Amino acid sequence: MIISSTAKEDKIRYLRDLIRDSNHIVCLMGVGMEIECGGRNLWSSDEAYRIEDEYGLSPEEILSGAFYSTKKQKFYEFYNKEILHVDIHPGAGYHAIKHLQDIGKLSAVITRDILGLPEEAGINNVIRLRGNRNVNQCPQCHKFYDIGFMRSFKTIPLCTQCQAPIRPRIQLYGEMIRNDVLTAASEAVFNAGIILVLGTNMGSPMVSSLLQYYEGSHKILITLHEHHNDSNADLFIHGKVEDILPKVVY
Ligand SMILES: [Zn+2]
Repeated sequence: MIISSTAKEDKIRYLRDLIRDSNHIVCLMGVGMEIECGGRNLWSSDEAYRIEDEYGLSPEEILSGAFYSTKKQKFYEFYNKEILHVDIHPGAGYHAIKHLQDIGKLSAVITRDILGLPEEAGINNVIRLRGNRNVNQCPQCHKFYDIGFMRSFKTIPLCTQCQAPIRPRIQLYGEMIRNDVLTAASEAVFNAGIILVLGTNMGSPMVSSLLQYYEGSHKILITLHEHHNDSNADLFIHGKVEDILPKVVY
């Protein structure tokens, strides 16, 4: 199935029928979905420039395991403002995915997001490649802390039991993604009927590495911006996920 040049409305109608007749849908969610909800892409050139200007380093340098180990004060200065206090909530795109779950068609969503928007929308099977800002743990006594506790600190958050710096349970640059998480993600993709690639492009590392496990012919891309890799999808539709998905799932 390759439909790349037909009119947008035809593509939407085709996808609507495809979803109606399918099960085992897996969503690969990109940063575009957070941007639709008012989030910022820290890795866009504008933002990377702002961060470099404000902190003197790139987001990759600050959010690295090595930087966390050696410069916690500076790490938390960044992490507090740019991640912990980002106050955005799931929009219509997330609610459309939740609807797929409600009607028994959603197998899993796979995401590199750490803000926790899928869970906030009520989506259950979220495979997180990089963790969640809502899960934090003391490395010494292993006590867990939620985002509310973390937000109450202006500087390094300390464990109430042993005063050790609390570590966000997110994957920092230079750290390996857990094997069990990678296995769950690749199995979900392998068993998928339809793959919805949302708010990213077919060449992103997450998408291209996971799609090698997919043997089907329904790789569907919904994204705002055109990209030279779009034709790697079996069907692509340009637009906001929050505009397109509600038209095809309800
Ligand atoms: Zn502790």
